[in-house]
Amino acid sequence: MPDLLLEAKRWKANVSRVSVPLDGSSVPGLWLNGRPERGSTEAAASILAPATGQKLASLNLANAADVGKAVEASARAATTWAKTPLRERAASLIELASRIEANLDILAAIDAKDTGSPVTAMRGSAAKGALYLRMMAGVSYEMSGRTYPASDGLHYTINQPWGVVGGISAYNHPILFACQKFGPALIAGNTVVLKPSEQAPLSTLALAALTEDLLPPSVLNIVPGSAEAGAALAAHPTIQRLTFTGGAATGLKVQAAAASSGTVKHLTLELGGKNPMVIFADASLEQAAAAAVRGTNFTRNQGQSCGATTRLLVHRAVADSITERVVDEVSAIELGLPEDPSTVMGSLISKSHQTRVLEFIASGQAEGANLLIGGGPPMDERLASGAYVTPTVFDSVTPEMSIAREEIFGPVLSIVPWDDEDKVLNLANDSPYGLTASIWTNDIDKALGFSHDLEAGYIWVNDVETRYPGVPFGGWKLSGIGKEQALVDELISFTRQKSVNVAIRSQRLASQSGL
Ligand code: NAD
Repeated sequence: MPDLLLEAKRWKANVSRVSVPLDGSSVPGLWLNGRPERGSTEAAASILAPATGQKLASLNLANAADVGKAVEASARAATTWAKTPLRERAASLIELASRIEANLDILAAIDAKDTGSPVTAMRGSAAKGALYLRMMAGVSYEMSGRTYPASDGLHYTINQPWGVVGGISAYNHPILFACQKFGPALIAGNTVVLKPSEQAPLSTLALAALTEDLLPPSVLNIVPGSAEAGAALAAHPTIQRLTFTGGAATGLKVQAAAASSGTVKHLTLELGGKNPMVIFADASLEQAAAAAVRGTNFTRNQGQSCGATTRLLVHRAVADSITERVVDEVSAIELGLPEDPSTVMGSLISKSHQTRVLEFIASGQAEGANLLIGGGPPMDERLASGAYVTPTVFDSVTPEMSIAREEIFGPVLSIVPWDDEDKVLNLANDSPYGLTASIWTNDIDKALGFSHDLEAGYIWVNDVETRYPGVPFGGWKLSGIGKEQALVDELISFTRQKSVNVAIRSQRLASQSGL
């Protein structure tokens, strides 16, 4: 087994010997039937560290045929896994959580190199993945059905697994997203084929090796691949339950591919956002300004966060004061190399994404927004070959500008001033997206009224950014459908419900029944 893969069999005895070369060597791209396997794409893909351009690994990704093979193998493993007692399925996931926690430093080091995000952020994100598995295992016995008083007979529902679940995920939190995709699905008794992002696949392969002696072969198959592999998974007729995290445009393609399969599929789509933070004139300005910076996720993810509140709608009476504080805080953010534990802001995922973000910044300037800070790559020589963009703030942004409407998925905050309290709700809701929103006011009526009327799936009042464990997260409108972090409701979504009606053939009861 190559060095990249953690040696799961020896982990307990020898965690410190787990090694991750990340030296550009060739590694198998897939995890299939409980072991690493080479993907079938003809040319090997180079996995680059976006912060330096250094080659981390070379691997052959999955093509459509590999995905088909993985789904068939997972389908063969499905019956036995579904019959494995729930306590054993849940225990496997709890043990996996412990293994992730024991290997957090290594997994975070891989993700820091592979994604460009700071190692401390990636450590926290992977720890949340382990917590996710624990939470889901903890509520597993609540996947119960109900009984119904429809007659004197017995009417009950049971929740049974779908079979093979397909998971497709984005690049920004590889371990967390992997756990979200396979954790609840496995506990609910399904097998899983997971396609991590081809942009940051390495930690998921390392994670797979931790399952080697925990999960029977093909209960979890992992097929990193590009759009071709994702589309093949979405269109696979054996899969009836699919969970996707990524951009809205891709989400729509996934829906279309799912519909083309000839199978009706239950989809969870966790998509993008252009999320508003609304600051009223009565808000605590210091806290609101700090929250505006935190909510943009300049630090930790360089703005590559679906829930980032990058559309800052500020009452004109306090706009100058908020803007000054925001710029002051942002000017203190320093960029650094992701593997350095003191780094708070790292690199974007790739040079091509850096170009895209810089194009948005240029469009903001061309459309007349006022660039207050940032707006380009950093001057620091050490970072010159990386995909860095300095934290960027625009003011005088108007609602129709592209930087106010489109998801940039980068470190760019757009400040939009407003005057009329009667119109700000429409302004906040004037977006095809509806993922998160944050409201800042000390007026409880305003806070609750807005929370009620905002078209978004996750609202903060005098708060921002934190995803509270066990509080359902998911978008409205173009931001998606379905919830994660939803505990038992989420587990149940990985089952299909069956109603069973049992007649009681007692003459006495039948004659008495008025129903
Ligand atoms: P993306 O849409 O480019 O890719 C996501 C995944 O889809 C990747 O694994 C990719 O290989 C795969 N894919 C690409 N084309 C496909 C196709 N035609 N069929 C099936 N799969 C396909 O997204 P990204 O750049 O990896 O991530 C950024 C996006 O993800 C942003 O829009 C962000 O807001 C969103 N996101 C949402 C959440 C959430 O919870 N709502 C979380 C993280 C990221």
